[in-house]
Amino acid sequence: MDYDQFIPHNSPDYLFIDWDLGNTCNFSCSYCASFVHDGSIPWVNIDKVDNLIEQIRNNYQSKEFRLYNLLGGEPTAYPKLPQLIKKIKSIDPDTVIRIHTNGSRTPRYWKENCQYMDEVLISCHPEFINVKTTCENINILIENNVAISVMVAMSINSWDKCLDIANKILEKTNVPISMKPLQKILGFEDRMDYTAKQEQIITDWNYNIKPKNILKNFVSSQMKWQSSKTGKEIYVDNVNQLIVDNTNHWRDWYCYIGLDSLFIRSTGDVKVGSDCNPDYIIGNYLESNNIKWPTKPIKCNYDSCFCGADMTTRKLK
Ligand code: SF4
Ligand code: SF4
Repeated sequence: MDYDQFIPHNSPDYLFIDWDLGNTCNFSCSYCASFVHDGSIPWVNIDKVDNLIEQIRNNYQSKEFRLYNLLGGEPTAYPKLPQLIKKIKSIDPDTVIRIHTNGSRTPRYWKENCQYMDEVLISCHPEFINVKTTCENINILIENNVAISVMVAMSINSWDKCLDIANKILEKTNVPISMKPLQKILGFEDRMDYTAKQEQIITDWNYNIKPKNILKNFVSSQMKWQSSKTGKEIYVDNVNQLIVDNTNHWRDWYCYIGLDSLFIRSTGDVKVGSDCNPDYIIGNYLESNNIKWPTKPIKCNYDSCFCGADMTTRKLK
């Protein structure tokens, strides 16, 4: 490919912040490493976050807004999640709050708390999901004008069930649904051994299945390949498809993690990007206020990029 830029298409210039609130989850998916869901790390201490939110607001004030992507474990299992969201919005009104959830809380929970959420991304995990409740929750969020999107974790160990989940949600709701190919253990490079037929099913679905009506949208994460020489462009609506197409490789490119995206760990470490460069820590907000905010892009030294947030960060050759 002669493209030398992989950049956002038509989206505002915003900072993306993954914030891992703790590692408690009510599910224990077989492809999820235990340290992601075993509850060994306590939930974020809500009394200690003000200074961090202020620093992020001040250091990234040139951005149009800051998007907080709240993760776990399962973030809705954190009893103080509604308080945290209100606090972020009061310290930094120019924020978008996205909750990345397995969608398993009761309809009552979503009705009571969705007023503080801008976007909800539901990951459907086949070994534990209750599809009926999930569909009910999706429809509550749509009625309350929350932007919503659904991703089905396409585990080869529950393949038929995954197809059934995607089709049921398509039938019962009006939400954008994508199929996500998985690694054998999430966060590591080795992908599940999909057959060619399974890969084709994922590809066909991701390119062709659209919601029936126009819904409130997520902040756009549409990307594009661009050639600075010819001006030629190709749009990428769903970066997960790059994994299937085997085009998720940017070794030696300049990647803007740290300038466009951050990760706050439940331990208090603040690092650049999301999954990749796990050791590139720029400070710990629980130990000191001295965080070394990045000023330059970094050179990619990985063979592949698997995390959606990492892939959706600008990269120049
Ligand atoms: S729902 Fe997510 S965090 Fe919880 S066990 Fe499954 S993959 Fe891990
Ligand atoms: S692997 Fe990391 S450094 Fe490389 S392109 Fe992806 S996010 Fe950037």
